Amino acid sequence: MTMLADRLKDRALLKTDSFIKGRWVAGAPWIKVVNPSDRSELARLTDVGAEGACQAIEAADIAFQHWKKTSVFERARIVRTWHDLIVEHADDLGALITAEMGKPLPEAKGEVIYGASFVDWSAEEAKRMYGETIQTPFPGSRGWTLHQPIGVVACITPWNFPSAMITRKCAPALAAGCTVVVKPAPETPLSALALAELARRAGFPDGVFNVVVGEAAPIGEAFTRSDTVRMVGFTGSTPVGKLLMKQAAGTVKRVALELGGNAPFVIMDDADIDKAADGVIASKFRASGQTCVSANRIIAHEPIADQLIEALKAHIDEIKVGPGFDDGVTVGPLIHDEAVARVEGLVKNARERGAVIHAGGAPLVDQLGGSFYAPTLVEGGQDFELDLANNEIFGPVASVYRVGNEDEMIRLANATPYGLAAYVYTRDVGRVHRITEALDFGMIGVNAPMVGSSATPFGGVKQSGIGREGGKWGVEEFTELKFVLLSGIDQ
Ligand code: ADP
Repeated sequence: MTMLADRLKDRALLKTDSFIKGRWVAGAPWIKVVNPSDRSELARLTDVGAEGACQAIEAADIAFQHWKKTSVFERARIVRTWHDLIVEHADDLGALITAEMGKPLPEAKGEVIYGASFVDWSAEEAKRMYGETIQTPFPGSRGWTLHQPIGVVACITPWNFPSAMITRKCAPALAAGCTVVVKPAPETPLSALALAELARRAGFPDGVFNVVVGEAAPIGEAFTRSDTVRMVGFTGSTPVGKLLMKQAAGTVKRVALELGGNAPFVIMDDADIDKAADGVIASKFRASGQTCVSANRIIAHEPIADQLIEALKAHIDEIKVGPGFDDGVTVGPLIHDEAVARVEGLVKNARERGAVIHAGGAPLVDQLGGSFYAPTLVEGGQDFELDLANNEIFGPVASVYRVGNEDEMIRLANATPYGLAAYVYTRDVGRVHRITEALDFGMIGVNAPMVGSSATPFGGVKQSGIGREGGKWGVEEFTELKFVLLSGIDQ
């Protein structure tokens, strides 16, 4: 365990105010940050409210006027320094994630390194924001395009990846020449504030990177109402995404929304079933199932369904549940007791409709003393009307369905308003093409339970969102494409 993890109870160590224009700014006394493993208090926050958000927007606007003019090489150098500091402090940043969010420490450190990879990538990629020269129909003229930073960007981030959701948005924005104001989730602000401190040390000029802590709705309204904020980047629930999109319409801002998912995990009869079972476990139980790309409906081809269920049951029996700082734990708590109650409700509905519970199926709150739920395996048969099939589970519950043929598997996989991630396990090359082309999802893992990396586009279709993070697309999102026509060059 790291020094920071040992001393997390020493509140003096933890920044709990907002970071605006290069300074720590206190607001009105607000809520506590609680460790979901044992409900111990980690910190008390202050709320800077809409007023603080407006101050941060103004600071970001002033900073934007010079940040956008710095050479991209200079910006990349500072972004790169931020990356190096994040990696250098990965142990402590990981400990913060485990403390405030609950995921096991090795997984938390993995998140820090994954998040840092976007910072590294953005520092390089921003240098490659090339324009094009274009042939025009007008004699004696030339046209060309420029990518220019969009302006002040407001980012609203969730608690399930307290560190990586910030770096994945902010690093490309900053490298592209934008300035940012981040509002982290109230459950997990400490990671955000630690990233702000490292950004300060990296040398971002005052006002380029700001973090405002406080109640969501007034800050969200201040962001969306502002003419100065030119883009809102959001990761979170679909209802809040829709609300922000509506609010942003008033000033016609760009919105980048990474919303909920309902990922199908389709396993065909020709698949390697052991690998498919490993994949389900990796996708389903990471962060206790609290990820938007988590396997939500495991759609098994009928001939291999029994074999798959047996393999999953064996894996689930071996999972060690507990506080994220304990050795060997692979599944931590849920974020809070309401999350446990939600998952309980979904499993209750399955039980009432006759689904078979092969493992788990109950909270472990009394046994373990925090917001824990047992890793659970539910066999839903052909009942796609289960609440488990129609809601983002966001908990450690694997629900398996049996379907007889490929066309029906595809139809059911697509039968959701969501379209973020999907997974297919097959060794038939024809099926790979047929199924990946037929699935209405933004990202598809074939024989792979995780698809994201700093080099590739992350994002969804339908009600899972708008825009892409990662790769060249992730940087492009934060730029405006400008066209210039020059005429009279032959005179
Ligand atoms: P969850 O239910 O998983 O917490 P949310 O969509 O509610 O998902 O939260 C994601 C982020 O959106 C958090 O930072 C949260 O504080 C913020 N948020 C929630 N409601 C609003 C709102 N009305 N306006 C702006 N941000 C909001």
